Amino acid sequence: MRENYYRDEIPSAPCPFEKFYPSQLERDDTFFMKLAYNQAIEAWKRGEVPVGALIVLDGEIIGKASNSVEGSGDPTAHAEILAISQACRHTGDWRLSGATLYVTKEPCPMCSGAALLGRVSRVVFAFADPNMGGLGGAAKIHRLPQSNHRFDVQEGILRDECLALLRSFFEIKRGDSRP
Ligand SMILES: [Zn+2]
Repeated sequence: MRENYYRDEIPSAPCPFEKFYPSQLERDDTFFMKLAYNQAIEAWKRGEVPVGALIVLDGEIIGKASNSVEGSGDPTAHAEILAISQACRHTGDWRLSGATLYVTKEPCPMCSGAALLGRVSRVVFAFADPNMGGLGGAAKIHRLPQSNHRFDVQEGILRDECLALLRSFFEIKRGDSRP
């Protein structure tokens, strides 16, 4: 019954956005963010808040996930956490040194903490979240004064596209037809 309740709350409106099919020739930040965006679209199609994440090590994708909180009934099933766990299973090591986390929005404090504990080297996100962002938007998890791990942070990659996706999801959910 509980599952039905949640399904009623989030209408499974069709996703009006198309996936990217980026060229494999230039595997830069935009390339990987486009694949994270595709993961976000996967989340939308399952009625989840559209957030996607990737873990990339030496140019290889070792973790790829989309937000699954509703489907799993688990508040920790954020795309970043799932991608980090997948990457650690792939490498057999909880230390993701040298790896980059790509995510379609600024990670929350939980996911920022997971990136810190997993010792990723870099976090790239599309747009800042002033309400729940953990990397400068609302908190600065990467700047804990006593933490001995640091990672680079870059924001703004594919910002407009990722922001439009998330905003549209909530507008449709609210039945908001304003342009
Ligand atoms: Zn999170």
